Amino acid sequence: MTCSTSPRTPAESGDGRIPVSLGLPAVPAPGASGPDASSAGAVPPPAPGDDPRLVDRFGRVATDLRISLIDKCNLRCTYCMPADGLAWLPAERLLTGEEIRRLVRIAVDTHGVRELRLTGGEPLVRKDLVEIIAGIRADHPDLPISMTTNGVGLAAKAGALAAAGLSRINVSLDTIHAESFAKLTRRNFFHKVLEGIEAADAAGLRPIKINAVLLRGVNDTEAADLLAWSLQRGFELRFIEQMPLDADHGWTRTNMVTAEDTRTLLRTHYDLSVSPDARDGAPAERYVVRALPADGADPAGTPGEVLGTVGIIASVTEPFCADCRRTRITAEGRVMSCLFSREETDLTALLRSGASDAQIADRWRAAMWAKPRAHGMDHTGLGDQDFVQPDRSMSAIGG
Ligand code: SAM
Ligand code: SF4
Repeated sequence: MTCSTSPRTPAESGDGRIPVSLGLPAVPAPGASGPDASSAGAVPPPAPGDDPRLVDRFGRVATDLRISLIDKCNLRCTYCMPADGLAWLPAERLLTGEEIRRLVRIAVDTHGVRELRLTGGEPLVRKDLVEIIAGIRADHPDLPISMTTNGVGLAAKAGALAAAGLSRINVSLDTIHAESFAKLTRRNFFHKVLEGIEAADAAGLRPIKINAVLLRGVNDTEAADLLAWSLQRGFELRFIEQMPLDADHGWTRTNMVTAEDTRTLLRTHYDLSVSPDARDGAPAERYVVRALPADGADPAGTPGEVLGTVGIIASVTEPFCADCRRTRITAEGRVMSCLFSREETDLTALLRSGASDAQIADRWRAAMWAKPRAHGMDHTGLGDQDFVQPDRSMSAIGG
């Protein structure tokens, strides 16, 4: 079953238009049949027996699977969740551990998925998290398995997660100042997150990546502090542009901190140059961070010394949709081919009605075949009049 989310609410885009410049073909991928796939509308899915990979109409292949384990969360980040939380899914609607394990088997063994990221909501809130990871690891000894977490409760679980087979971790931390943390997350758990990061480091869940979203007037002036803190500890910091995926629908194009703003903020303290390493489909553009000449405000290192790297994920202003390799499964078992998709394809009914792996794989492939060109649409321009914010917030999709 393919479900359309509705009603659709026009996204606030301020007065700005967000240019999308993509290198994608406007015609169906080679081998595709049927109507012009560049126009929105019903497109026949690939016939069973075709390429088993998750190929879309534009020739992209999804090899990176993100599964949301739960929609519930213990923080209330203003750019994601409303102050009162959301109506959480009842337990029986969440994918079970065994269902998750089966979907990962199908993804890896049939579709050729090569990487798995567990997310949410907050994955640490899920009580059977360690068992889920151990089960997936038993099936796939070499699969890179990472997890994105807010770090609350990580201190107690980091060792068990590593022992179960988790490869590494991304912790979301937008600031190193307790007051800003409380303002951003509406909770006083700053020290719990720091303890969680320390425990993850000690458990060997490395490389540890730190995800940060900058909000104008809240934590944007703290960007360089967060970078200094991350560099000192050998963590890879990645700034993520705020996307219109907040449950409150408060995002505006004019108020968001862009990748360019972030580079400008960091360059008052550091020298940044684009990393020569191949980006290889990664959402983050990586920069080599060097100490500034002596007259700069650089807090560490001799001028020109390489201090580390920083990533910037410019999902809004410098989108990377042309190279997207992601397929997402929501906590209740729906395929979302794109974060901004307004169509979802349910796999749970198949999982619970005795369908074969091949039937589930075919439905998943059909869902990915229809993946929109960029930002949930088939034509260019996130700032277009008809751009609509999905009903689901980031927490309910699985970021
Ligand atoms: N609760 C976990 C956490 O915060 O890491 C995992 C789920 S959270 C939805 C995953 C990532 O999405 C986090 O790094 C968070 O900062 C990011 N995120 C949430 N809402 C966002 C938004 N509106 N724009 C950009 N990133 C967002
Ligand atoms: Fe929770 Fe993560 Fe959303 Fe913050 S970003 S409210 S931690 S799901």
